[in-house]
Amino acid sequence: MIGVLAIQGDVSEHYEAAKRASKEYGIDEEVRLVRRPKDMEGITRLIIPGGESTTISRIMVKNGLYDLIVDKASKNELAVMGTCAGSILMAKNILDDDRVKSLGLIDMDIRRNAFGRQKDSFEAYVEIEGIGKYHAVFIRAPLIERCHGDCRVLGKIEDRIIMVRQGRFMALVFHPELTDDLRIYREFFNL
Ligand code: GLN
Repeated sequence: MIGVLAIQGDVSEHYEAAKRASKEYGIDEEVRLVRRPKDMEGITRLIIPGGESTTISRIMVKNGLYDLIVDKASKNELAVMGTCAGSILMAKNILDDDRVKSLGLIDMDIRRNAFGRQKDSFEAYVEIEGIGKYHAVFIRAPLIERCHGDCRVLGKIEDRIIMVRQGRFMALVFHPELTDDLRIYREFFNL
């Protein structure tokens, strides 16, 4: 079963896209909104949406989901995809911000709101490994400044890293739930 962390942000968009992708790619898994620890039962893949990483992290720590997700992920019982704010929560190291407690699943350094104010939001064609040309939507996106250890770069815009993978964990700084292209979900299902 696929879970969508439903604390704040692009929850319903991810929920709908994951349902469509599950059908389209024939994995036929159900999708469930995850609000509390008990909702995690039976979840083997989890999506962490974009939104506000400070809020998502604060509530997740408070209601016990944080510990549960870290535990399941460390036992290899969970594949996790973090998008935009969700990607911040995947990082071992958040640069210049100690308000966000990340799950620390990927060996990367990430910087919040790194694309600058004048470019808070933009769209661009990017090249993604395993996908090819992809139309990506960036909204106050963070930037992956360093990917090391077992972290592998899957996508860049110019020389900036925007998507990575480490084992069963994936992080992307854009919003796959906002376009009709479901191929990012396919990559997630393949983790
Ligand atoms: N700027 C947000 C943060 O730092 C992320 C933006 C988004 O998810 N669209 O949490």
